[in-house]
Amino acid sequence: MTAAPDLTGRIAIVTGASRGIGYFIAKQMAAAGAHVVAVARTVGGLEELDDEIKAERARTGKGDATLVPLDLTDMGGVDRLGGAIHERWGRLDILVANAGVLGTISPIGHVEAKVFDKVMAVNVTSTWRLIRSVDPLLRLSDAGRAIIISSGAAHSARAFWGPYAASKAAVEALMRSWAHETESLPLRVNAVDPGATRTAMRAQAMPGENPETLPHPTEVAERILPLASSGLTQTGMIFQAKHNRWVSYQQPA
Ligand code: NDP
Repeated sequence: MTAAPDLTGRIAIVTGASRGIGYFIAKQMAAAGAHVVAVARTVGGLEELDDEIKAERARTGKGDATLVPLDLTDMGGVDRLGGAIHERWGRLDILVANAGVLGTISPIGHVEAKVFDKVMAVNVTSTWRLIRSVDPLLRLSDAGRAIIISSGAAHSARAFWGPYAASKAAVEALMRSWAHETESLPLRVNAVDPGATRTAMRAQAMPGENPETLPHPTEVAERILPLASSGLTQTGMIFQAKHNRWVSYQQPA
């Protein structure tokens, strides 16, 4: 287990914080001292997270949360989120773009147009819109950190996972372009392949699999947290949480 970085006083957005990997990243970032802006649609999940963060705060005096119930396909809402953070804090230190959907697992020719569009809207367009909304705020941080949650599917492009694989390849391309644009700044921009993790999305993808054979999202979140540390040097790379290693598909820009 890697030691959690000290995130005291850091302002962090975590999308998809109502359950799964995002929930535990948000919880652990708050425990490390961050003020987490927790985004998702399910208010119950966000409130449960808030209860856990407040209980930890009562014990240790560290961490806090602001809940933002938002459908990330509401692009105006994504724009307003950046504006609200600017007004309240004047900067953003950490972005974890984690929210995602799987779509359906089926041959490409059988994918319904509305399913394809939804996967692209949530996984790609809203991620771009969020990047656009908070890029100026991350540049105002002394050590801005952006963590884009991708998937091994971006590279394996396994049969029947077409829309999801394409969406993750697209966000990795966005991540790399953004990293090139910002490489001379303190801002560090990377992607994460969490590896198969015991969540609702994985159960949807692999209904026959025994979830107990997979790592719990709290373990995966622990491996991802160091990417938010001020000491991180990597940018434009992909961190494979399962193997605890960095890989790069960078070509010279
Ligand atoms: P879950 O399905 O457990 O959680 C997905 C999260 O995304 C939820 O909090 C959900 O919140 C949020 N979300 C989905 N759609 C929207 C939306 N329109 N607006 C706002 N929030 C939304 O998935 P995981 O935790 O498994 O996945 C997290 C990330 O990890 C994803 O990007 C996924 O692609 C990636 N990943 C997961 C792997 C795994 O094995 N689990 C493997 C590789 C990558 P709500 O429904 O409340 O809005």
